[in-house]
Amino acid sequence: MKYIFVTGGVVSSLGKGVASASLGALLRARGYRVTAVKIDPYINIDAGTMRPYEHGEVFVTASGAETDLDIGNYERFLDLDIPPGSNITTGQVYQEVIRKERAGDYLSQTVQVIPHVTDEIKRRIKVAGENAGAEIVLIEVGGTVGDIESLPFLEAIRQFRFDEGDEHVLYLHLTLVPYLGTSNEFKTKPTQHSVATLRSVGISPDIVMVRSKEKLPSEITRKIALFTSVRENRVFSSYDVSHVYEVPLTLEEQGLGKAVEDLLGLERVHPNLGVWVGAVRTIKQPTHAVTIALAGKYTAMPDAYLSLLESLTHAGIANDARVNIKWINAEELDPSSGEEGSGEEGIGQEGGLEAQLGDVDGILVPGGFGIRGIEGKIHAAQYAREGGVPYLGICLGMQIAVIEYARNVAGLEGANSAEFDEYAPHRVIDLMPEQVEIAGLGGTMRLGDWPMDLRAGTKIAELYGVPEGGTVRERHRHRFEVNPAYTERLQDAGLTISGVTPGVAGRGAGLVESIEIPGHPFFVALQAHPEFKSRPMRPSPPFAGFVAAALERQKAKRSNRLTV
Ligand code: GLN
Repeated sequence: MKYIFVTGGVVSSLGKGVASASLGALLRARGYRVTAVKIDPYINIDAGTMRPYEHGEVFVTASGAETDLDIGNYERFLDLDIPPGSNITTGQVYQEVIRKERAGDYLSQTVQVIPHVTDEIKRRIKVAGENAGAEIVLIEVGGTVGDIESLPFLEAIRQFRFDEGDEHVLYLHLTLVPYLGTSNEFKTKPTQHSVATLRSVGISPDIVMVRSKEKLPSEITRKIALFTSVRENRVFSSYDVSHVYEVPLTLEEQGLGKAVEDLLGLERVHPNLGVWVGAVRTIKQPTHAVTIALAGKYTAMPDAYLSLLESLTHAGIANDARVNIKWINAEELDPSSGEEGSGEEGIGQEGGLEAQLGDVDGILVPGGFGIRGIEGKIHAAQYAREGGVPYLGICLGMQIAVIEYARNVAGLEGANSAEFDEYAPHRVIDLMPEQVEIAGLGGTMRLGDWPMDLRAGTKIAELYGVPEGGTVRERHRHRFEVNPAYTERLQDAGLTISGVTPGVAGRGAGLVESIEIPGHPFFVALQAHPEFKSRPMRPSPPFAGFVAAALERQKAKRSNRLTV
C-alpha cells in the first residue's frame, strides 16, 4: 500500500479536499484502487453534532457514519463508497487509547502522545486503507500546519515514511499564493513560511501545490522551488476555475499525475479522463437552463447543502442543462413571521409567495432540523402542489409535504410534526419508536443505507428503473417518520405512499420512505437523502427526474406564452 499525505498551510478553507480528491481522480483514471481518509483534529467523535453553518453539511456514508463534507468530495471524485473508519478525529483516537488504558492493554506503561497516540493514528490510517482494499491511500490532514491540535497527527505521518520507506509515502503540501492587486504581484512569502513550519516538525514536502487566483507565472513557480527546495516541476498551481470538476484536468495538464507516479515508483500510465472532459463541457456550455428554488435555512452557507447542489449539477449534466439556484430564506415565506407590532407580515415584506416562487421551474425543500422556517416551507410545498410546480422534498422536505397535505387536503387541522409541536392535535410526523428511549444525540439517528420498497406504477419506481416495483437503497439521517396512525387517512385523501421500508414485522417495517401526488407533473418526496449517492456520471434518479420535470415546465410555459 502507498500513502499520499496532504497537509495545508497559510489559511484554512483552501479547498484541500477538492485538491486531494482531484489527485485521487487522476489515480483512479490510471486504474488504481484508491481510497481517501480525512483527518479532523477536533475532539468531536464525528461531525454529526456540529453546526452546518460553520462546517458545512454533515455527509452520511453507506455505513451510517456522519462525516466531514470532504468525504462526499472523495466519493464523488473517486466514484466509490468510502468505507467506515475513514474520517478520523482526535476524539476517536483518544477514546480508543483511553479505553485500552482502562482495559489494561498498556499495563505498566506510561501512556503518552508518542508512541501511544501516534500508534493509534497510524493504525487507523492503515485499517482504513485495508477496509477499502486500496493500493493507494490519500490522507488529508484537516486544519493548517502550525495548529496545536494537529501536532500528533503530523508526528504520526512523519513516522510513516520512516516505517514504510521512501517510495511508499509521499507528502503534498497545499498553500496559498495571494495576489496583491495594488502592487500587481503574487506573494510567495506565506508559502515559504508554511513549508518552513512543516519542516520544523520533520516533514519535507515532495510536492507543493499552490492555490491562486490565476495560473502562476513560471518565475513565481521558480521562486517557490528555490525557497522550498521542491523542484520546479513538482510545484503545481491549483488556480481558480469556474467549476471544481475542472480541477483534475488542470492538474493533469501540469503533470501532477506523472510526478506522483515517479515519486511513488509507479509505472507511467496514460489516464482515462474522458468522463471528466465530457462533464466539464456540459457544465460550461449546456443547451438549457432551469431555475430551482431552494427553500432552506442556511441560505448564506452553500456548503451546508453541498451534496444537494452537486446532485443538481449532476442532474443538470444528464439533462444538458445548467441548474441555477434561487436561494429562498424559508422564514420569509411565512405570513406570520413579520415582526410583531410592525404591522407588516412576512410575505407582504417580500412581495408574497408569487414574487418569490412565481418565476422558478421547480421547488426543492431540503433536509433540516428545528422549527425555524417551517411554516414558510409548508407554504412553498402548498404553492408547488396547487400550482403544478415540480417539487422535490428531501427528508424534512418530505415531512413538510406530508404536513401540508394533511392540513390542506386531508382536513387535519393543526397537523404538524412532533419535532415542532409536541402537542399538535395531529402529529402526522412523529418520533420513530426506536428513538423514544435514546438519550444521547451523537450518532443515534436512523443512519446510513436502508432499503426502500418502491410500489409498481409510481413515478419514483419509474425513476429508479423499477417500474414494476422493486427495492433500492438510499442513505438516511432522521429521527422522525410519517406517523403510521395517519397513513390510511392520508392515502384516502389521495396521497400516494410510493415507498416503504420492507419487512413484515422487522424493525421499522412499513415506515414511509417516499410519497407522491398522483396527477401532479412532479411531486416526489423521500425520507432518505439521495443526494449522498449522486455522482457526476451517475446522477441520483429523483434529482435527474426533478430537473427533467423542471425543463418540461419551462418548455410548456414558453409555448403557452407563444400561443397566447
Ligand atoms: N428533522 C427531521 C428528522 O429528524 C428531518 C431530518 C432531516 O431532514 N435530515 O426526522
